[in-house]
Amino acid sequence: MEDQQGFSTQAIRQQLAATAYREHSTPLFMTSSFTFPTAELMRDTFAGEGEGIIYSRYNNPNVDEFIQKMCVLEGAAAGFATASGMAAVFGALMALVRSGDHIIATRAVFGSTHQILTQLMPRWGVTHTYVAAANTDGWAAAVQPNSRILLLETPSNPGLALVDLAFAGAFAREHGLILMVDNCFATPYLQRPLDYGAHLVMHSATKWIDGQGRSLGGIILGDQELMDQVIFFCRHTGPALSPFNAWLLSKSLETLAIRMDAHCRQALQLATWLEQQSAMAQVSYPFLPSHAQYELAQRQMKQGGGIVTCVFKGGAAAALQLVNNLQLCTRSSNLGDTRTIVTHPASTTHSKLTEAERLAVGITPGLLRISVGLEDIADIMADLQQALDRSH
Ligand SMILES: *Cc1c(COP(=O)(O)O)cnc(C)c1O
Repeated sequence: MEDQQGFSTQAIRQQLAATAYREHSTPLFMTSSFTFPTAELMRDTFAGEGEGIIYSRYNNPNVDEFIQKMCVLEGAAAGFATASGMAAVFGALMALVRSGDHIIATRAVFGSTHQILTQLMPRWGVTHTYVAAANTDGWAAAVQPNSRILLLETPSNPGLALVDLAFAGAFAREHGLILMVDNCFATPYLQRPLDYGAHLVMHSATKWIDGQGRSLGGIILGDQELMDQVIFFCRHTGPALSPFNAWLLSKSLETLAIRMDAHCRQALQLATWLEQQSAMAQVSYPFLPSHAQYELAQRQMKQGGGIVTCVFKGGAAAALQLVNNLQLCTRSSNLGDTRTIVTHPASTTHSKLTEAERLAVGITPGLLRISVGLEDIADIMADLQQALDRSH
């Protein structure tokens, strides 16, 4: 029965059993530790027997509810929830790499993931090779005898390059690699990497999953065997998600599908409109027919997501002028919010990269990233229209 239920039914009805108060909505279990009626039960729980909960760095009812829902939505056997998306990416990598290992990653990874690969992993003798997301021809040449992990994001931030998940799954199997996918931009509603052979999925729950710009959070999901190693690593190193944030995030999942439907509808409308504006050299959105990987997007994503990018003919000056002219949309670096957010990646989120590194992932000086919110689309467009008009 549960297997046949739809996405939203599961996101709403998968919840903790009620307490003695028979509450309808899951309460907040803001407690660091849990008690035991007897010494014997305590001993058995510490030995890993039974369902008892010991301590919130290991387990917490709110955190467990969030994990349980995400497992169902992503089709995973097990999960561990973390205090941020980066704790999820770092925890998943560190739980599984050994000194001397090699990681293959798509070049267009999140900025802090890039810092982990380039600045931190070398300290522990872990090397990496970047490959192109959208062109898999060069991937085989990147494989070394010590290659252990294939790490990717699709769609990428902010270039919106897609990786062919079916290809990546087959490639990982062929070369004996652990495939890890950062599924932050798509959410399980738009795309389920485990169905294509990914071993682990990571999320920054801070973005679309929270959806309202309130809390940080992350999660790692996958098959039982790999997750046992990840859970061991995370329980003992302490990146646990707080019960309060887990409570918020679990509530947010109840509306994920309906929010993503609206974000995607409005993003496609905005991208279509932006494409007609004379100030634009290029507009990118996975579900625009002009996107270089439109067919792949249609094949592996339910809809195109909530992010649109555009490149100004007038370069950085024109892009920054538009950002300054905004009256409704927000100048911020976050994404996945009810509020529309406009970011200039070259001078903010990706300013730590060199110019050459930025260009290699499509971040030109005139590029803006728009996280399309849930305000009325007419008002979002009117704000961008007045900002464009005042830029001339
Ligand atoms: C934001 C983001 C992260 C990092 O998540 P935090 O919650 O900010 O730590 C990782 N990957 C992608 C694709 C992101 O957009």
